[in-house]
Amino acid sequence: MTALLQTLRGQPVASRVLERALSEGHVHHAYLFEGQAGVGKELAAFGLAQALVCAQPTLHFACGECSACKRAVPRGEKRLAAHPDVVVLERGLYEPAQIGRKSPETQDISVDQVRTLVLARAAFRAHEDRAKVFIVRAAEELSISAANALLKTLEEPMSGTFFILLSSQPDALLPTIRSRTQRVRFGALSSEVLNELLPNRAVEATGYESFVEGALEAVGAASFGRSLEAGEEMKRLSREGSIDALLAVARKFAAIAKEHANEPSSELWAMRFGLVERAIVALEGNGSPQLVGESLFSRLRRS
Ligand SMILES: [Zn+2]
Repeated sequence: MTALLQTLRGQPVASRVLERALSEGHVHHAYLFEGQAGVGKELAAFGLAQALVCAQPTLHFACGECSACKRAVPRGEKRLAAHPDVVVLERGLYEPAQIGRKSPETQDISVDQVRTLVLARAAFRAHEDRAKVFIVRAAEELSISAANALLKTLEEPMSGTFFILLSSQPDALLPTIRSRTQRVRFGALSSEVLNELLPNRAVEATGYESFVEGALEAVGAASFGRSLEAGEEMKRLSREGSIDALLAVARKFAAIAKEHANEPSSELWAMRFGLVERAIVALEGNGSPQLVGESLFSRLRRS
């Protein structure tokens, strides 16, 4: 298995910042990774976490082979790491009871989530004695009280505690949070990188034309209907079929991004491509085809 950070593509600036921090042993305790969805922020976050928890790092870089490294890789629909010291925060990611709430988190990342996952563990050392890493997805969704609860920890973190905030809308974060983080920018992916990222597999494109059409219709669609239909369709196709169907969609989106290279819409298609990539990863990580399909198509609809 390769270390995750080595698989980050098309982000020379971010790669350099993180590689330098690791090689010099000066990893900042709080980062803000900013950039559009699907450009590699989350991969980089798990990659950095992996390097921090690796049991036998080489010059501070993850070995990619040890048990800690393997467990730092996100899996399943929720893309969580099995490693107890790599903790993900995201709105609605946990059942209300898991985070001491009665109602689901529909609006924001609640202070309850921050209390349960971060503050309750702040006084304890890492389970496996290396580092504790908290990854916050869509960090702009932290409620004001959640952000305030985090502030003190961001200010004076225990040694060995790291935060990686991910955001496509960094300006929506409280200035007090922003000022305590080191910002790392992730740019849009070029069409060359998009093509390189396309998994190199022989795919029978025939049979998926209507699925691809459906995906194109779903983009910016007014109704929610396509999402449910796509979920049903992917349930019927099962996992392998769904992955092939989404690969066909990814190819189509990458081709459109390439056609529109140098136009503003290219970035949008690159972002949509990223959403499809993410759905493929979710399926490969054992996500339910139906749920992955519904979620992907509803995201495409809002894109
Ligand atoms: Zn390792």
